[in-house]
Amino acid sequence: MKYFLPYWEDKLDPDFDFVNDSFSKKHIELGSRNYDKYIHEIINNAPYDGILVSLGVFLSKLKLNEEDASVNGFKNLKEYLRFHNSNSNLELLGDCGAFNYVNEPEPPEMFNPERVAKLYNDLGFDYGISTDHLAVRTIKIRDKDNNLINKELTKHELRNRIKISLENAEKFLNIHKQKKYKFIPIGSAQGYSPITYRNSVKELVEMGYEYIALGGLARSNTREILSVLEKVKNVLKGRKLHLLGILRPKQLSVFEELGVYSFDSASYLRKAWLRSGQNYLSHDLDHWYTAIRIPQVDNPKMVESINKSGHSIEEAKELEQECLNLLRKYDDGQISLDKVINKISYYDKLFQRSGNDGKNLEEKYVQTLKDQPWKKCSCEICQSIGIDVVIFRGTNRNKRRGFHNTYVFYDFLKSKVYKSTSVYKIAE
Ligand SMILES: [Zn+2]
Repeated sequence: MKYFLPYWEDKLDPDFDFVNDSFSKKHIELGSRNYDKYIHEIINNAPYDGILVSLGVFLSKLKLNEEDASVNGFKNLKEYLRFHNSNSNLELLGDCGAFNYVNEPEPPEMFNPERVAKLYNDLGFDYGISTDHLAVRTIKIRDKDNNLINKELTKHELRNRIKISLENAEKFLNIHKQKKYKFIPIGSAQGYSPITYRNSVKELVEMGYEYIALGGLARSNTREILSVLEKVKNVLKGRKLHLLGILRPKQLSVFEELGVYSFDSASYLRKAWLRSGQNYLSHDLDHWYTAIRIPQVDNPKMVESINKSGHSIEEAKELEQECLNLLRKYDDGQISLDKVINKISYYDKLFQRSGNDGKNLEEKYVQTLKDQPWKKCSCEICQSIGIDVVIFRGTNRNKRRGFHNTYVFYDFLKSKVYKSTSVYKIAE
């Protein structure tokens, strides 16, 4: 199975100085736009088979005329994403980003199938997903006072969205044939129940699609996803399936049996900084560790809580640096766990958290530091930055931790260990 990572905007400073906690000279001289790099340029083996780009993300940068298309002046999106600087043979998958227009009655004109197919072709995509419209239960609309309110879609509206998706898929495939475009076309199947998904897939197979994407399931639970896949399997007839926005390590084996060929999701990347207690995945996928929060003193939230605490900014800065130094010393085996944890907890309670929540984190920090999971991981990120990978602080640490998580998952996928691993050993 192939794993695609949805495109993210932020790049990293490849030479970020973790010891002095500062950007590299070149980053400062040339600016992040010119110097920062994608993770596939920084490490030897990218933790994904390719990147999923939603055309909607690039709307402001996108130019399309009769002759050609470009993004920020790049005629080929792979060049813009600098795939040529990667040792991996990365692929480019495109979709329209239907979540962005889910509240509209139909996909905006800029996503008409003809235009979308031309964009995929001209911008050098390997795969392109047809223009779809999500058949979700509720959307947001404006009421007469211009407030955003929830609106439940009727059965008729849901069916209409499925119909729009199928009509677009048909036009998309016809244009692809007529113009002899080179990318591989993927038909998007929408639905709101196992049977409606099955019907969509059946029609797409009849149209001639060899590769089909299931959309609108990103927020569904595992049981719902599996019941859709089981229904779909009967009409799939050996075609390939892509799951949009879904990553389930425990289900890989089952997914494969049910015809899934590829999927995409940024959830393991984003967990690194979005989840409060689960930020770092152990190398054996057995446990999610909490990253240790040492926020920058100069971030506005911190300044506010420092002022409230009655301590000075200078004092806070000193404490912040002390915490970072102690963590490094602990990593080198120079000081005890107690010493570092006491200081971090003091800093934590003084400026960030109080009461039970703070105590909770302290226990979790102890586990992270005691187990030292970064020393057991063979990924290039853990090998090169050590304990900094579990420090919750700034993009350069947080995103690297996200890519470590992605690496652990990707390694598991590629080694096919999932075929023989007990599902109970994989952390939720
Ligand atoms: Zn790692």
